[in-house]
Amino acid sequence: MSVACLDLSREQLREDEVREADLIALYVPMHTATRLAIEALPVIHRLNPSAYLCFYGIYAPVNEDYLRKLGAQTILGGEFEEGLLKVAQRLRASRSCPGRSQFEIQSSETSRKIPAVSQSEPVISHARLRFQVPDRVGMPSLARYAHLEHPDGKPRVVGYTEASRGCKHLCRHCPVVPVYQGRFRIIQPEIVLADIRQQVEMGAQHMTFGDPDFFNGVRHALRIVVALHQEFPALTYDVTIKVEHLLKRAEHLQTLRDTGCLFVTTAVESLDDRTLALLEKGHTRADFLRVVGLFQETGLMLSPTFVAFTPWTTLETYCELLEVIAELALVEQVAPIQLGIRLLIPAGSRLLELAEVRKLVGAFDQAGLVYPWRHSDPRVDALYEQVQRVIQDGIKHRESRRAIFSEVRHVAYQMAGHFEAPLPELPLLASRTSIPYLTEPWYC
Ligand code: SF4
Repeated sequence: MSVACLDLSREQLREDEVREADLIALYVPMHTATRLAIEALPVIHRLNPSAYLCFYGIYAPVNEDYLRKLGAQTILGGEFEEGLLKVAQRLRASRSCPGRSQFEIQSSETSRKIPAVSQSEPVISHARLRFQVPDRVGMPSLARYAHLEHPDGKPRVVGYTEASRGCKHLCRHCPVVPVYQGRFRIIQPEIVLADIRQQVEMGAQHMTFGDPDFFNGVRHALRIVVALHQEFPALTYDVTIKVEHLLKRAEHLQTLRDTGCLFVTTAVESLDDRTLALLEKGHTRADFLRVVGLFQETGLMLSPTFVAFTPWTTLETYCELLEVIAELALVEQVAPIQLGIRLLIPAGSRLLELAEVRKLVGAFDQAGLVYPWRHSDPRVDALYEQVQRVIQDGIKHRESRRAIFSEVRHVAYQMAGHFEAPLPELPLLASRTSIPYLTEPWYC
């Protein structure tokens, strides 16, 4: 079986490879990736109308109905590798049988004929798989992806791997939850380390662990980073860990620091305790403030992320969020995009359990793959639009994080009619040159 991999976020669709494929499997681990995949479908259908279509990744099961209307024959979420292999084997077996065309059906939305091989694999799998080392041959070079800006001024090539998938927790707004439903699955340490080794050979100087939460399995995680550091003492890495775990497992922060962890991303989402309770984040504003203190004591860098615009955001809470970021000297540690993230309500979201959210949302927008919502205070939606413009302009003109933050603060204070005090001076350690960051910050 020969496999060609295309990363549509980095390269054009290679038409010959699409034309020749028997099976086309589109990986949809994020909202943006799902939209990219759907945008590519008309060209895929035109180039190869008889290819078998599969969508896999956490956004596939929650959008199953829509993807099937677009011609998807198999949908795989969660631990998808076993299902993907079975699809390929089943398809190969069925294609070697004469008379295959008798089984063709008509897709309602695409008016193309597709082979009617029914899905026998589970749409969502929580199987405990034994993994193989990912085969990265044919992928774009690591240098074509986001790089790390290092405090020493030398950009670093970044690799990506995962030590676990899924999550033990059930935060209401999280896209992992409808698929993993409170479960997480580990990838065997020897596989993770072999994947890191092959990426170091490809030039990686820094690894991003894409685990939804690196401390869901803390012993597993620590075993990997200790081994990684022993083998590659100069290799740095970053991880994502929730506030609750950073507090409960604070004794392990030093190990992260001592094994080359450059920064920890943590999803704070809000500083408003009511919003945090509605999202079932498992932490409070006070918990976040404690984490900031812990990181200062440990000498580790924290990279907080926020969902700044929710139905519960007010002009006051938004201005207050900016004030706290400034007072805690986190301006340089918060990627500008985090000041303008608006709550996404995708299909299957637990947010729809809340009566007030159900009342707020419109009909599901299939093209956008979200339930649209408007804020009850139009000024908050207007502020969101303005903040987005400021951030996009700032990024386009390569303005500093401090300059963008300052402009966002200015528009927010104007909208709220508040007096705008000057931004506090930067403490020495928080200057941009001392903060490591990825050139493409994380967001869905
Ligand atoms: S801890 Fe993070 S990954 Fe886990 S459910 Fe909450 S938001 Fe999702």
